[in-house]
Order: sequence, then structure tokens, then C-alpha cells
Amino acid sequence: MNVGDKYVQETKKEVVKTPDTFSIRYWEVINMDKVIKELNQHLANTDFKSTIVSIQHLPDLQWDLENLLEQKILSRDFYDEIASHYNLFFNFEPPTDFPKAKSIIITAALQPKVSVKFKLSDKAYGVIIPPTYLQDTDKDASNIISLYLGKYGYKIYPAKLPVKLLAVHSGLARYGRNNIAYIDGWGSFFRLKAFFSDIPCIEDNWQEVRMMEFCNKCVACINKCPTGAIHQDRFLISAEKCLTFFNEKSDNFPRWVNPAWHNCFIGCMICQDVCPANKDYTEYIVPGGEFSEKETLMILKGVLKDKLPLDTIEKLKKLYLLDEYNILQRNLEVLIRKSRVRSML
Ligand code: SF4
Ligand code: SF4
Repeated sequence: MNVGDKYVQETKKEVVKTPDTFSIRYWEVINMDKVIKELNQHLANTDFKSTIVSIQHLPDLQWDLENLLEQKILSRDFYDEIASHYNLFFNFEPPTDFPKAKSIIITAALQPKVSVKFKLSDKAYGVIIPPTYLQDTDKDASNIISLYLGKYGYKIYPAKLPVKLLAVHSGLARYGRNNIAYIDGWGSFFRLKAFFSDIPCIEDNWQEVRMMEFCNKCVACINKCPTGAIHQDRFLISAEKCLTFFNEKSDNFPRWVNPAWHNCFIGCMICQDVCPANKDYTEYIVPGGEFSEKETLMILKGVLKDKLPLDTIEKLKKLYLLDEYNILQRNLEVLIRKSRVRSML
């Protein structure tokens, strides 16, 4: 019996104590179930997918991560490096300033690729930002949930948790062989967000981590990944070989990384673009603005962030790239060079 089932059983045990308790608990269970169902529907009406799990699964989530490290499936040095780079110091305890937390609400918002243009020598270079980098929907989800649950006296609090792993355990998503999370009907074109809430989770959605059925008969991402990071005989990719790992941090690219492999302004879309689960979304691209020749040159010359014109800062902010400014010069240069080489051949 998992912790969630135990919780429901214990709730049921409480229900039969006395007729009074029965009516109160029964009303609570029915009412909360209704509130959660309506919340999910409310989020669905505003284009979010969502689910909820009990906070009692926080140790399970932590155990999953620890297990990967203990079994050396994930190198501790590598994990420490990415944890410090992305500030991924997860908190697997209920927040101290929100001690009433009882559940975790996970939301997903559909998100396209974003195409951004950079002008240089009277030519426009289009670069792609993959789904998940834009964060506008985090606030939208927070506002919608707060407003809705607020009517019933419940609150939410942002959760700093491994959201992909959480979404897969909650049944909202499945892992692909490339370790990207996928949602039925949306492929990998979405952004996840998690919130603690004080609404109790009656129906527990927690489940074992599962891989997409598509992956059973597919090796497309293994064949296409330029760095050989995806494996057939093990589930976890070699994240330390993934282009995303290299182009999201400011160190020089390793010599063995062929410049022709770069394909996004940040991140990499190769294994997602070949994935059959994404076939309806690969062309789901929206324009994300244009940088003038002057702005492009400033980025390529590495002009300091605080010396950029306000307009340029605003454009980068809108793309959630201002904090990543220190990697943009290198990433843009490699893509422009690649495009120029290609046009010469
Ligand atoms: S490309 Fe194929 S194997 Fe890779 S994640 Fe997609 S379905 Fe799975
Ligand atoms: S994101 Fe790119 S480098 Fe990383 S696993 Fe996928 S194809 Fe390979």
C-alpha cells in the first residue's frame, strides 16, 4: 500500500468514529474532491493541464533522486555542478513559512518554440528558443489557482522541487527515452510549475515513473543525438554530454563538440524535433522579436549588460534571457557562424 492509499484509508477510518465525525469528515472529503475537480477544470478552461499529489510523497521524491546518486547512475559531482549552476537546491520539506501545506499542485502550460531574429550585415539570422524557457505562465497559473482556492480559504506557495520527476510521478507526464517529459496531446511543448497548497489531497495520483509507450519501438532520438548522450540500455541519459548542459553555462565548449551541432540559441531541440510524440508540434513556433544590427553587434562584442540600451534589456527580459546574458555572445556567434558556413557551401 503506498502512502497515499494509507492516507485515504486513515481518512476513512476516521470517518466511522462517530455519527458526528462521520458527517463532518464525509462532507469534507466530498467537498474537497469537488473543489479539486473544479480547480482542474478551471485550469483546463484557461489552457493548463494540472494534477495534485499529497505532500506525503515528498520523501518518495527525495528518495528517487538520492537513489540515482547512491547507485551512481547520476554522478554526484555532475549533480552538484548542475545544482549549483541552476540553484537546484530542492526543498523536500514543507515550507517553514507555510507549515499547513498538505498537497502539491502541478500545472503544465502549452508552450511553443520561439523564433528570434538578429540582423547582421543586412541579413536576418533566426534562432530558436525551445519550449520551457519562457516563464510568463508561472504567474498566470499562480494567479488562477490563488483566486480559485482563495474562495474556499486555501492558499498556495511556490514549490522548489524537481518538477519533471514530480509531473511523471503524478501521472501528468511520462518520460521519453531522452529524459524529456511528455504530456499526451502536447508532446514536450509545455512548461511545468509546482505549488504547495493547504488543500488536502484525497484522491492520490502518485504513481511509479513510466516511460512513454512510443519509446518501446523507437530509437529516433538515440540515432539523432549528435553527442551520443541517449542510450538504449539505460534510462538516464548522459546529461554531462548533452548540448544543453554546455550551452546553458558560460565555460568554453569542449573541443569535441562540433560547432555544427548547435541548433538553438539556448538548449537543443534535436531529440525533440525527431520525436514522433511531437509530430503535431515541431512547427509550433511563434515570433519572439527582432534585434537590430546595432543590438546584435553589441551582444556579439560582449558589451556589458548594464551598458545595453533599455530597449534591448526589455527585449531580453521578455525572452527571459537577461539573466543568461553572459552566454548569449558565445551562443549567438556559433549559430551565425554555422549559418554563414552553410550558405557558402
Ligand atoms: S524519439 Fe522515440 S525513443 Fe526518443 S523519446 Fe521520442 S518516442 Fe521515445
Ligand atoms: S538535447 Fe540534444 S544533445 Fe541533449 S540529448 Fe537531446 S539531442 Fe542529445
